[in-house]
Amino acid sequence: MADDSLKSEVKLRGIPVSRGVCLGKVLIIGKNALEVEPGAIAKDAAPHELDRLEGALMATRQQLTEIHSRVSEAMGAAHAGIFDAHILVLDDPTLIEQVTEMIEHKRVSADYAFSTVANRFVKSLESVQDEYLRERVADIKDVSNRVLTNLRGGDFYDDLSHLPEPCIIIGHDLTPSTTAMLDKSKVLGFATDVGSKTSHSAILARSMRIPAVVGLQTASREFKTGQTVLLDGYNGLLILNPTDQTLFEYGQLERRHQKVEDQLQEIRSLPAVTLDGTHVCISANVEEVADAAKVINAGAEGVGLFRTEYLFLNRESLPSEDEQFEAYREAARTLKPHSVIIRTLDIGGDKLPAYYSMKTDTAEMNPFLGWRAIRFCLAETTIFRTQLRAILRASVEGNIRIMYPMISGVEELDESNARLEIYKDELRVEGLPFDEEIQVGAMIEVPSAVMVADGLARRVKFFSLGTNDLIQYALAADRLNEKVAYLYDPAHPAILRLIKMTVDAGHRNGIWVGICGEMASDPVMVPLLLGLGVDELSATPPLVPQIKYLVRRLKMSEAKELAQFALSAESSAEILTRAEELAGCIAPELFGGKA
Ligand code: PEP
Ligand code: MG
Repeated sequence: MADDSLKSEVKLRGIPVSRGVCLGKVLIIGKNALEVEPGAIAKDAAPHELDRLEGALMATRQQLTEIHSRVSEAMGAAHAGIFDAHILVLDDPTLIEQVTEMIEHKRVSADYAFSTVANRFVKSLESVQDEYLRERVADIKDVSNRVLTNLRGGDFYDDLSHLPEPCIIIGHDLTPSTTAMLDKSKVLGFATDVGSKTSHSAILARSMRIPAVVGLQTASREFKTGQTVLLDGYNGLLILNPTDQTLFEYGQLERRHQKVEDQLQEIRSLPAVTLDGTHVCISANVEEVADAAKVINAGAEGVGLFRTEYLFLNRESLPSEDEQFEAYREAARTLKPHSVIIRTLDIGGDKLPAYYSMKTDTAEMNPFLGWRAIRFCLAETTIFRTQLRAILRASVEGNIRIMYPMISGVEELDESNARLEIYKDELRVEGLPFDEEIQVGAMIEVPSAVMVADGLARRVKFFSLGTNDLIQYALAADRLNEKVAYLYDPAHPAILRLIKMTVDAGHRNGIWVGICGEMASDPVMVPLLLGLGVDELSATPPLVPQIKYLVRRLKMSEAKELAQFALSAESSAEILTRAEELAGCIAPELFGGKA
């Protein structure tokens, strides 16, 4: 990369995952944030560096002791043991002696001395056979990140929820927990080395309406905190030192988009009816209760997917039945008379709350094929019971529906429904009211569920296609991995046939079939989905107006023709061309965003 001081423009290209453009200062987070440059210190600076070291060690000890007592209180002393191990690392006399010696004799900064010695410890422990000692590697890494952060004033390790100024976050990766924690008022956009369009962090960026680009490969190593960059979420570019010409072009692009936004604003509250009179139910996906108001503003008819796992992230204890009950009730009250489909907990995969790792002995080899969603809930019956009781209690509002994620066959569905009936009985005995008519649905996101969809449809009142997962499982292409992003193809003929099979099975058995995967938020895909017979589209709230705009310019006859063509096509390229032609012809304003 060019030297920043020369001020030449430098562009990195990645995958655009959330539209918009922003200009701002970089904040590097995560594993590349704490890389330490070697550099000699002045002859008489050693005492100052030793003081800084002592201050950082004390601050770290204090933080660890606080976390230790919070975790023991919430989850018992056994779970807090890990923080005892962290404190022991800080007390290790050899480590501290070697760091001190390096500062005094090699005349280097406390940061460089600490990171060098800690890395040396990590390397020697990694090579030993003893499993216990090897496990200490993670402790040393964690503690040394804390110490290094405290050496730099401690403003970006734990506390992404309180950022000092507006910034563009750049990281190697962003987990959903980190993204959910970010101070939304200060994050202008984000960019990552890895990732893909349907990673949950990308989904969150779209729902936060901030530009995001993933798959930039080297951004977190090449860019530095404090640099000024332009992030282009339309075309997937991260631009260092943008020239005046670039800024001018982006200014024009933003103005064009603003014009489209104004047009969209005008149709928000109008019905989603096609030109030939078919009403399309457009609902929205939410990650937290606070999003419920956005759903109404966007002009959606209720919530098609409430991802409840965000209630469980970034905390050390589980949300209680009462806390969940209040959250679900508030969402239901805000959305009335529209319905709210509450999806039961879908943790695992890329969404890992703190206590989840305490339930598993080791990291999973294939988390998306592992202990996730309904599999986790059917094993962790207390967690499932607490959530289902909370949802049932909130259902007195009359507009709540329940949906199970990752159903792969009738057994899981029968078992889930049986549990639900037990909890209903409990509430009856306790005299707690709930909606006796509450509707239950299943997500269709595992290919096996499509193959047995008739059996599933006989057991539920609706289906919702989770295409984010259905695509990854059907095409064997990890939804998080940018290296196989070219294979992760919503327009693949196999995916369209799976959708059609699900719709047909649902309709044969008298139930409606919606879609809550990201395909429903893609204006190019919408005519195809409607042509395949999908009854409901649940999109990210900021994209609802676009979808409505498109639906209002579409004829169902055109959508059906497109679907018919797609079902007989052999390649996704020909399907995509036809889908783009139709969408571009009926709503060209939505696709004029190229810089
Ligand atoms: C899906 O898989 O399409 C879906 C909506 O669920 P999630 O993205 O939360 O896995
Ligand atoms: Mg899913």
